[in-house]
Amino acid sequence: MLNIQLINALSDNYIACIINAAQKKCVIVDPGEADPVFNFLNENHLSLSGILITHYHWDHTNGIEKLLQRLEVPVYGPAKEPVPGMTHLLNDGDVINLEKLGMRFNLMHIPGHTLGHIAYYNDDVVFTGDTLFTAGCGKIFGGTVDQMYNSLMRIVSLNEKTLVYCGHEYTTSNLKFALTVEPENHDIQQRIDQVSKLRQKNLPTVPAQLSLEKLTNPFLRCEVPSVKKAAENYAGKALSSPQEILGILRAWKNNL
Ligand code: ZN
Ligand code: FE
Repeated sequence: MLNIQLINALSDNYIACIINAAQKKCVIVDPGEADPVFNFLNENHLSLSGILITHYHWDHTNGIEKLLQRLEVPVYGPAKEPVPGMTHLLNDGDVINLEKLGMRFNLMHIPGHTLGHIAYYNDDVVFTGDTLFTAGCGKIFGGTVDQMYNSLMRIVSLNEKTLVYCGHEYTTSNLKFALTVEPENHDIQQRIDQVSKLRQKNLPTVPAQLSLEKLTNPFLRCEVPSVKKAAENYAGKALSSPQEILGILRAWKNNL
């Protein structure tokens, strides 16, 4: 198992830091800011070996240039998106083998939030950026509802023990929406209790296991009858496909 720590950035972003403790080296995911990374590296006596980017949005990439002014490291990112300083352009099915660090990640193209969005994953973890959030999903800016649906289904097909690391601390508001959709879902009620305890102590609610996401994340539950019914009530019409249901759920959450 990798040692992964979360660095707080901007108002609610997380920069994941994947650490090889023996070598005192690490790679980071989606540095929206540079200073919190420099502080973390100093406090933990770590050196940076690389930067992984899930998508081009400002709050995931804005720290890159400042980091590169002081550190010479490779920047991995989505081939189809503009990322400052990118040295390795990645496509679906690619593998990053950071042999010296004992880290290896597979690449999945997951369009929807943005058109080129990618996820990094191995047997234990997946870095989903702004596509799959803990208890929610990202807004559909660059892709279509169908693309988002396919991307979420691909992520959820990973081993259900996989830990989901996403780009933001959004779990509280996501679960509030989840309970609006499924007021009778006890797993959601239980998760709200767990999450509020963590947030009271200012602790992250990320990561979460895929198995828990399947039970509590409405965007992964479009085929569950109660979710379908709630979406149909909101839309005021019958919905025939899970893609349509996802589209309605997304619009519903946007309008809250
Ligand atoms: Zn984004
Ligand atoms: Fe973001």
